[in-house]
Amino acid sequence: MEKSRPSDGPLTEAEILTWLTETDAARLQGLWARADGVRVRHVGDQVHLRGLVEISNHCVRSCGYCGISHHNRSVRRYRMGAGEILECARLAAELEFGTVVLQAGEDYGLTREFVTQVVRQIRARTPLAVTLSLGERPEEDLESWREAGADRYLLRFETSDPGLYERIHPSVPGQPSDRFALLARLREMGYEIGSGVMVGIPGQSYESLAKDILRFAQLDLDMIGVGPFLPHPATPLGDFCSTELAPNQVPATEDMTYRVVALSRLVCPEANIPSTTALATLNRETGRELGLARGANVIMPNLTPAPYRALYEIYPGKACLSETVDQNAQGIGERLRSLGRPPGRGPGSRRHAPT
Ligand code: SAH
Repeated sequence: MEKSRPSDGPLTEAEILTWLTETDAARLQGLWARADGVRVRHVGDQVHLRGLVEISNHCVRSCGYCGISHHNRSVRRYRMGAGEILECARLAAELEFGTVVLQAGEDYGLTREFVTQVVRQIRARTPLAVTLSLGERPEEDLESWREAGADRYLLRFETSDPGLYERIHPSVPGQPSDRFALLARLREMGYEIGSGVMVGIPGQSYESLAKDILRFAQLDLDMIGVGPFLPHPATPLGDFCSTELAPNQVPATEDMTYRVVALSRLVCPEANIPSTTALATLNRETGRELGLARGANVIMPNLTPAPYRALYEIYPGKACLSETVDQNAQGIGERLRSLGRPPGRGPGSRRHAPT
């Protein structure tokens, strides 16, 4: 029976928890259908394409999950030059993507001035919206980039459980990490804000994941990125195998990720939600498509030049590694059309419901 799932009104924590632990496949079909219906009504059929450029793999942080953590001495480090980044932005524009996303480790070698100039040039020379995902930078940096024309900022809070967060994302000494405070500041600066979590982080319980999803709604996120935790062997969490789980541990599975995508759509109907590369890494054949059928409306093709792309190894076996830039982008366009989900036109900003 549907007694714990009223069809309108905001989802409660108990309802979210029920969906996360549902074992009946037929009922889950109902969740996918409901998420897809909300997606159609609020953001339509278009799939926005964001060209992802991984501009540096230097990082000052020592996140326990991440392969490019400062502690991983075996990584060959790179930082792209302004000309190379602009070349990638030009390619994104040529491929008719609406947005370029510049992502990196938390790298202070990407100076405030450098990023300011790059953003300014992309905005001057292309019609693209610019999204940044450069970690926890000082407010002065974020303000300068916003003034230069950056439109959006992605900063996943990774988990809303403070104890778990501190274990997997240790603070830099003298600089406490408060991603919620930073997201609030980013919004005040006029950025569209994106956040999200990894699904199945070691130590993540169903209750804490349900709270994460409620947080998405409380933050009124413009963008929500969620993907499975994928252990990287050179990290402290690298030998974690989520099949030998404590009873309440969330598994880092494809199925659980779809549930979180679908629930994210239900709690934030207008958000832009990508079907992520991490998800496609678990299911190269249909992962992206299933994400799109279960609430997602964005794809982020990787436009990083191949030699750098392989070095930006936050987790192993990234789905985009074997594809060349153009194949990747064109392949996605064709696949989308065949699904009846045409590639989006324009920058693909969040749409707000009329009030
Ligand atoms: N330095 C930036 C960008 C990090 S990479 C920042 O900290 O915001 C973007 C996202 O990749 C991270 O926020 C994290 O959620 C995800 N990620 C990192 N390592 C991962 C792993 N091993 N498995 C799955 N996702 C991972």
